[in-house]
Amino acid sequence: MDVLNKKSVEDIDVAGKRVLVRCDFNVKMENGVITSDKRIVASLPTIEYLINHNARVILCSHLGRPKGEFNPEFSLAPVAVRLSELLGREVKMAKDVVGESAKELAANLKDGEVMLLENVRFHKEETKNDPEFSKALASLAEIYVNDAFGSAHRAHSSTTGVADYLPAVCGFLIQKEIAFIGGALANPKRPLVAILGGAKVSDKIGVITNLLDKVDTLIVGGGMAYTFMKSLGYSIGTSICEDDRVEDAKKMMEDAKAKGVKFLIPVDNKVGKEYKPDTEAMVVDSDNLPDGWMGLDIGPKTQALFCDAVKDAGTVIWNGPMGVSEWDNFASGTIAVAKAVAESGAISIIGGGDSAAAVQKLGFADKMSHISTGGGASLEFLEGKDLPGIVALNDKD
Ligand code: AMP
Repeated sequence: MDVLNKKSVEDIDVAGKRVLVRCDFNVKMENGVITSDKRIVASLPTIEYLINHNARVILCSHLGRPKGEFNPEFSLAPVAVRLSELLGREVKMAKDVVGESAKELAANLKDGEVMLLENVRFHKEETKNDPEFSKALASLAEIYVNDAFGSAHRAHSSTTGVADYLPAVCGFLIQKEIAFIGGALANPKRPLVAILGGAKVSDKIGVITNLLDKVDTLIVGGGMAYTFMKSLGYSIGTSICEDDRVEDAKKMMEDAKAKGVKFLIPVDNKVGKEYKPDTEAMVVDSDNLPDGWMGLDIGPKTQALFCDAVKDAGTVIWNGPMGVSEWDNFASGTIAVAKAVAESGAISIIGGGDSAAAVQKLGFADKMSHISTGGGASLEFLEGKDLPGIVALNDKD
């Protein structure tokens, strides 16, 4: 799949056309009140572009897991209210997804007007990518735009199936994900450095395997590093470890050597007595980790080693914290690396989920080139998998 060759909203004439836009409005809500409108704000560039180009805009999204039936708790109505405040214009809310209300509102939309369908997951057919449901969704519109990167790894009706029946292009959010993540994998500015952290090796084996063919340097920190250290024969005390992945870890380091990839793991660690924020702590070298202690952050020598590797990078891909960065006592490694990435001048790409949250919380968000809007989707993209929501889009001529 040549992901870099997909059509976007800018490659298609939308004036006067009914355009179905799959957004990611899966916002955080408590008792019907939106607690973070970040995802709605992120969707604005595509929606505003369509309004300004006189399209008739039909938005759709999922919200939570309503299990295939109508449930007011998962209604997108609060999103329509917030979106209309942000756009400064009315957003008409349909009472259903492909029923009479949706059809009537869609048929009567005028140029530049906006409506929102109800939660696509009110139909069990959505997650089954049912062709009849996809066809019903498609019949509301003349063009399909996918801008929900966070759901692009799912082959559902509204993310994939609908593209069988309509010209299909991406919005600006997906376009940016493709340009940065796809660009870094296909044609990176070198040296390409990948930094992987977080709790589990098993979550990232696919990513490491794919990246070993592409990167110049691979850095492993965080909890997952202890499985690698164990594979080298180090004692790791009570550090988090996946015993069934020790052989995989060993093999990955051997592969890196064979491929000429520099592979860095922590040389020292900040260890704690117990898994709690205010536990007694000290710094020890990796070959001297005492029994009864657990590694909860990288140590100062490792910070220097990792930051040095990042300094001259052309591109950095980062996914996963270097320690338990939620706790101030064990956040220094993640902060140091975030700072080094921000100051490196490299194209910096931060995976979604925990790493994106850490970078945001630590105040480095606006210094990164790209923070992915999809956790699972960005991991699958980095694993080299085809994302169905992107594959389904039309190629440029
Ligand atoms: P992930 O979801 O795989 O990116 O992992 C993120 C989680 O990894 C965060 O909640 C961190 O607290 C956790 N983590 C990072 N380093 C360690 C460590 N050394 N020991 C235990 N958990 C860790």
